[in-house]
Amino acid sequence: MYDIGIIGGGTAGMTAAIYGQRAGKKTIILEGGVFGGQITSSPNVENYPGIASVSGSEFSMNLLDQAVKLGAETAMEQVTGIRDEGDRKVIEASGKEYPCRSVILATGVTHRHLGVPNEERLTGAGVSYCATCDGMFFRGRDVAVVGGGSTALQDAEFLSNYCRKVYVIHRRDEFRGENSIVKRLEEKENVEFILRATVKEIIGDQAVERLIINSKKTGKEFKLDVSGVFIAVGQIPKNEVFSDAVKLDANGFILAAEDCVTSHPGIFAAGDCRTKEVRQLTTAAADGAVAALAACKYIGENS
Ligand code: NAP
Repeated sequence: MYDIGIIGGGTAGMTAAIYGQRAGKKTIILEGGVFGGQITSSPNVENYPGIASVSGSEFSMNLLDQAVKLGAETAMEQVTGIRDEGDRKVIEASGKEYPCRSVILATGVTHRHLGVPNEERLTGAGVSYCATCDGMFFRGRDVAVVGGGSTALQDAEFLSNYCRKVYVIHRRDEFRGENSIVKRLEEKENVEFILRATVKEIIGDQAVERLIINSKKTGKEFKLDVSGVFIAVGQIPKNEVFSDAVKLDANGFILAAEDCVTSHPGIFAAGDCRTKEVRQLTTAAADGAVAALAACKYIGENS
């Protein structure tokens, strides 16, 4: 029996494990993909207080190391649901069960797709959702980044160091991401902004060859020859398997306020997977701490 079962090994989940272990609780982190979560694919994190600059993968490896050294257990598991048996909650995973006194959902979010023709077919053949993972394959080539948030801007900056040309295609003429990166990109000779434009179609037989772009500025379509397209148009939650256990909002985020308390006693939600205004590394870490301490309080009151 675990005191705290944490579903999701990103920043929120691993911070929860650190706080849980330090409070003397037996914790386990269940992760179905990669420990570290979203931030692992961030080339450079520059807005975490106290750390001027660190790669996302180094940051997340340090977090995992810290949690494990404190005694947190980890398991690679795809969780399929949670069953409430009164005094305990059972996390169900592929063929295995993890009984816990409390549960923290820290499932994060996943990449939103553009939903344009050939996007799925050419994923892995020029279509990518991770510039740090795949950028090196496009050394010396022309690529496009789609999106106007921090991820798209960071991706464009990273790719501009290796690629011949980087087009940033964004549907508005204002960026959602950090202005400091926009300024750095404006100074790069091999970066070109294509604003008020959307991708209509990705063209390619075996691999990406070009994009069909719809320009809202001119009202016309044009072709853009690129070998790669990095799609960074935001994130969506994947909480359907928990919809019987906790209430979700219309967009699939777990309904929970700053106290991380969900509709189900003893189940807490931390990080990007819950309803919140600001989805940042700092707020994910803060949620991990809040949820772990709330879980400790719940265990104390219910044992
Ligand atoms: P985001 O901030 O939600 O930005 C998504 C971008 O994609 C927006 O510019 C949006 O356009 C555009 N978009 C959405 N749907 C689209 C569609 N169907 N077609 C074309 N464009 C579309 O997502 P994100 O950049 O992945 O960032 C997610 C969160 O992580 C944010 O809170 C961000 O600050 C944070 N983050 C932090 C770091 C860090 O270093 N600390 C790094 C990366 C991300 P509109 O602007 O027009 O809506």
